Amino acid sequence: MNSKTIILAGNPNVGKSSIFNNLTNKHQHTGNWTGKTVEIAEGDFKCNNQNYHIYDLPGTYSLNFHSEEERVAADFIKTTYHDVTIVVCDATCLERNLYLALQIMQLTPKVIVCINLIDEAQKKQIFINFSKLSKMLQVPVIPMSARKNYGFNELKEAINNYQKPEKTFEKITDIAQKAKEITESTVIYQNQNYDAKERKIDRILTHKFWGLLTMFALFLLIFWLTISAANYPSSLLFKMFNNLTPYLTKFLNILPLPDFLVDLMINGIYKVLSWVVSVMLPPMAIFFPLFTILEDLGYLPRIAFCLDKCFKKCRSCGKQALTMCMGFGCNAVGVTTTRIIDSKRERLIAILTNSFVPCNGRFPTLISLLSIFIIGLNASSLLSALGLTVIIVFAILITLLISYILSKTILKGEKSAFTIELPPYRSPNLKNILTHSFRDRIYKILKRAISCSIPAGIIIWLLLNISLDNIPVINYLVNLLNPLGNLIGLDGAIILAFILGLPANEIIMPIILMIYLASSNLIEVNELSALKDILINNGWTILTCINFIILSLFHYPCATTILTIKKETNSTKWTLISIIIPLIIGISLCLLIKLLFNIF
Ligand code: GDP
Repeated sequence: MNSKTIILAGNPNVGKSSIFNNLTNKHQHTGNWTGKTVEIAEGDFKCNNQNYHIYDLPGTYSLNFHSEEERVAADFIKTTYHDVTIVVCDATCLERNLYLALQIMQLTPKVIVCINLIDEAQKKQIFINFSKLSKMLQVPVIPMSARKNYGFNELKEAINNYQKPEKTFEKITDIAQKAKEITESTVIYQNQNYDAKERKIDRILTHKFWGLLTMFALFLLIFWLTISAANYPSSLLFKMFNNLTPYLTKFLNILPLPDFLVDLMINGIYKVLSWVVSVMLPPMAIFFPLFTILEDLGYLPRIAFCLDKCFKKCRSCGKQALTMCMGFGCNAVGVTTTRIIDSKRERLIAILTNSFVPCNGRFPTLISLLSIFIIGLNASSLLSALGLTVIIVFAILITLLISYILSKTILKGEKSAFTIELPPYRSPNLKNILTHSFRDRIYKILKRAISCSIPAGIIIWLLLNISLDNIPVINYLVNLLNPLGNLIGLDGAIILAFILGLPANEIIMPIILMIYLASSNLIEVNELSALKDILINNGWTILTCINFIILSLFHYPCATTILTIKKETNSTKWTLISIIIPLIIGISLCLLIKLLFNIF
């Protein structure tokens, strides 16, 4: 049977992705901020034996061609054959949403209007006369609450029974006026002061001093919870993997496999894999749900608002802060999110600097090194969290500095006017948080880390086990890189690990350990004190630790991020620049720090 085509359109943050996900059983990113859906998503669903193909457009406020998204949305509606366009509106601010709905109705008469978020509207004592609204608009109007699963049957029924209108809509010259008129005659605000509490909270959260302080405190709290809760499961996983090693070896030895293959599997692949899982999984499983709570609450745009002044001073824009927040999870995601920035110049600045914020693959190593060398193994986790927050503040300062330098040199230009919407606060939804964190974030990142660990484990094992004149190849490479390593306060093994770690940052530390352990080959790394011994036995000092942290903040984006940058900029030149800039910063800072250490 032929599939019918549906287009889903609407303002940003009105629940389009939630509706799309419910209909198609897909997992588009949902979150309480404007612009997170930056691509046209597609999906299929079946209803009453009819197949439907549905497109979810990026959210826009109008079709006035102010931004790339508006152009894409308008062109798509005009040029793609479709049976019906569903315009999703927010029941709590109908007038602004109707402005877009009316514009769409001027392009296509085949429209169903969905009024979502009616649960929020009820809470705010906003009531809508839906049948009158439907009469005035001359299209079906469906009240919904995507979060509470309310209205989907009615929506599907409306889609199934949809009859193409016989005539096009009347031409509306002043759409804003029309939206106002319709709202005035269909919406009743029982409590005119319905958003007084939100405005009060916003006065604090967007205040130039209290806002920044709250942001700092919230990140400190998240890191503290992450660090203090992750330690125990991390060491448990380490122990479990170590305890499994003899059984796995026994099992592999039963199979008809050559000895070298068993060794490669255990000492190559399994070792890197167990490190990556034990070190990454627990902090991710705590950090992401906490971060998603902030996202769902609607806090992230407040961060952008608070930091906007700083970014403006550097001639870039506050939305860069939102793309940095996404970079905490994964820099490739951060780079894609830069599409929310309208100005091409400011978008490039955000792309070139995104990898400065440490992604989740880098957090665990940073935390371990902080504990080992700077604050002490027995120090409280609050101190570790403070350390990590300081590192992040430092990364933000360098981002601001480089943004400034870029806008004074290769990316000169005027700063654009800043428009970022502060979405209403919404209570976070537990199911959303868990599915979004575990399925969309943790699973994806861990899968990528694991798939990179396997080839990395094999390569490093080969380099350790293939010898020239009885000397393993890896020794030649380490010796070759030693002068460069020593020059910047590190060593050849660390430099080699950064080179081999190009596919994913999380495998850098396991590579270093494998190189170090090849010569001693005894210690099992099952806790921080063992890691400390290995590093110190291999000549690590506080200088090595600081410079390692610097280099892990500023080297080059990982392979996935580099490919994403190439795709987003469509330019080899900017991709190369995105690699060179952090390298120059990292090496210069390491040289400077080494010099300071030598002087003092
Ligand atoms: P999109 O930007 O239009 O795709 O919107 P999302 O689907 O990402 O939803 C934005 C935010 O609103 C998320 O935090 C959702 O959980 C929340 N949300 C979506 N629909 C509803 C609803 O009907 N009621 C409530 N209370 N929240 C909703």
